[in-house]
Amino acid sequence: MKVILLQATPDPLKAVAKAARLCYSSSNIMDLVNTDSAEEEAELVARIVSLGHHSVLEHASFTFGIEGISRVTSHQLVRHRIASYSQQSQRYVKQKGQFPYLIPPTIQNNPGLRIEYEKMMGTIQQLYDKCISQDIPAEDARYLLPNACETKVITTMNARELRHFFRLRCCRRAQWEIREMAKQMLRLVIEKAQALFQGAGPICLVGPCPEGSLGCGNPEEVRIEFRYLLDKY
Ligand SMILES: Cc1cc2nc3c(=O)[nH]c(=O)nc-3n(C[C@H](O)[C@H](O)[C@H](O)COP(=O)(O)OP(=O)(O)OC[C@H]3O[C@@H](n4cnc5c(N)ncnc54)[C@H](O)[C@@H]3O)c2cc1C
Repeated sequence: MKVILLQATPDPLKAVAKAARLCYSSSNIMDLVNTDSAEEEAELVARIVSLGHHSVLEHASFTFGIEGISRVTSHQLVRHRIASYSQQSQRYVKQKGQFPYLIPPTIQNNPGLRIEYEKMMGTIQQLYDKCISQDIPAEDARYLLPNACETKVITTMNARELRHFFRLRCCRRAQWEIREMAKQMLRLVIEKAQALFQGAGPICLVGPCPEGSLGCGNPEEVRIEFRYLLDKY
């Protein structure tokens, strides 16, 4: 899996801090542009975020390039509606040679099953190729392709949606693959705009686990994992 931060709002902290300052100031907008130092901006944003005034976070957007995830994970990703997506098309891009696919670690670690799994992927590719060679359009041949098939996505989310996304998808209740992707995204945005992502991560970082008996059972371990990540930058 490869996750890249392709681009972001040029000065995301300033964009959010200006929006926050505007809400509580009688000044003209242009007078607000350079009133705060970076430290004051970070302080203001931290205060606003702790008050739950999260709409100002929507002024900062982040665009990620994501490769080598399965269609399982891309399907989970696009359930997040406050975001924009572009995904490599299986209608227009034919799968030549063996299509790339993921093997979940549980299957990877079971040699017998892994061999059968890989054989099945080969069989699917053969039938796919047969369809294409008999002029079946790629948009129909793709019905054969499994959830394991790799895909590429570009997604843009604002900081508010990202914080929500991290709450759900950094949690151990989320599946391993999207969780790994979410953690990589979190690392990238912390590097870019740490002040906007203070306390971002699974919900148990900032309060009790709401999952009850479905929880992972070890919120303290999760807190240590994410505090380490958040404090690193
Ligand atoms: C561990 C886990 C297990 C899951 N299991 C299942 C499952 O079994 N089946 C399944 O179908 N899904 C499942 N999901 C997906 C889940 O139900 C959500 O669709 C997904 O997480 C997107 O979350 P969201 O709707 O909060 O966020 P987004 O779509 O990112 O929206 C962000 C927030 O905006 C608001 N919002 C967005 N759209 C609307 C709207 N139309 N009306 C009102 N408010 C809106 C809500 O407050 C929402 O929380 C699972 C998710 C997780 C993390």
